[in-house]
Amino acid sequence: MNRSAKPLSTIEEDACRWLEQQQTEMESRLWQLANINSGSYNLDGLAQVAQTLVEWAEPLNCEISYIDLQPQVMINAKGQSVSQPLGRALKLRQRPQAPLQVFLCAHMDTVFALDHPFQQVQQLDAEHINGPGVADLKGGIMVMLYALQALEASPLTESIGWTVLFNPDEEIGSPGSAQLFPQLAQDHHLGLIYEPCFADGNLAGERKGSGNFSTISHGKAAHAGREHHLGRNAIRAMADFVRAVDQLNGQRAGVTINVGIIEGGNATNVVPDTCVMKFNIRTQQPDDELWCKEQLQSIIADINQSDGISIELHGHFGRTPKVMTPAWQKLCDLLQACGQSLQIPIDFVATGGCCDGNNLAAAGLPNIDTLGVQGGNIHSDQEYMRLASLSEKAKLSALLLLRLAAAGPELWSPDK
Ligand SMILES: [Zn+2]
Repeated sequence: MNRSAKPLSTIEEDACRWLEQQQTEMESRLWQLANINSGSYNLDGLAQVAQTLVEWAEPLNCEISYIDLQPQVMINAKGQSVSQPLGRALKLRQRPQAPLQVFLCAHMDTVFALDHPFQQVQQLDAEHINGPGVADLKGGIMVMLYALQALEASPLTESIGWTVLFNPDEEIGSPGSAQLFPQLAQDHHLGLIYEPCFADGNLAGERKGSGNFSTISHGKAAHAGREHHLGRNAIRAMADFVRAVDQLNGQRAGVTINVGIIEGGNATNVVPDTCVMKFNIRTQQPDDELWCKEQLQSIIADINQSDGISIELHGHFGRTPKVMTPAWQKLCDLLQACGQSLQIPIDFVATGGCCDGNNLAAAGLPNIDTLGVQGGNIHSDQEYMRLASLSEKAKLSALLLLRLAAAGPELWSPDK
């Protein structure tokens, strides 16, 4: 053991021993949970996951409630606004009166829709499984639930209360659940989020921000042969927009723009009157958002000067960049100390990916967002996770919670 590592107390040792004994049950429950399809928008599957979690949360003896999320408003291929139901979030609440309040978050949805071919878990080798959501994020759900059970079985619970939020819409940018975060951030001292860590075991440090946008170009339909001159081609207008937007890449450090989807036109003999394009922007600093908005507005104003053409922009920056703060650093230091005691090396590396940790940080809640299992190839049918990381990571979280409980809220007063 590292010489500077703090040895485990008897309470901490008991918790770790118990968690090691839960490895087999955690594995079989993860297998069960990942075999339930819960792609975002699959409301039946998401409800089934939530129901399973309610059963498994029983030993936590906490208050359980559902939160109906606002539907998501989207732009379809015809450029019309449509409303898409997102389902319900599940909330667990324990000791709201305790002086230290911790917020824990894990998403129930995956990127694999009901009609995706990747639906079942399989054993890869003695140490790894492959399956939809085994790492992102159902393994993390197991880690969180068992770490909380270890905390609840300890004699340190009086000083610490917690809220768990299981949201059904993280993989599509939390369009419904993000509205819950400002209040949750206000009601808690710190946040723990159970996204998988990286394949090499590193955790995510600073994260880029992200915005999803839809653009609709309107022109005028006409017969391509008889009256081509009367038409105003919406695809051509969108092509101009795409070119201009793509040329913003490389103009500001840390900002990237990706044109992702384009749809328009019905037939080659008709001048198309509508074209829809969707794109994503990643930002590094909070003030990059303003720069992007100004650039987009000026491009649109330019194109809209053309006769009979109008471009409209929908969407927003759903995730602000997550940048280091003193409170977050303190939480990282505490986790690293826990890692040392358990001989689990913890390093934080910056990433272009983003998650609910961005939204919570933007709302003022210091948080660590990759406390889940170790795995890789997420968002593909090669997604895998390392089974032993279930109990390892549960021990890490349990130790963090126990040490937070022992230290009490003084650790998080703003002047320290
Ligand atoms: Zn995830």
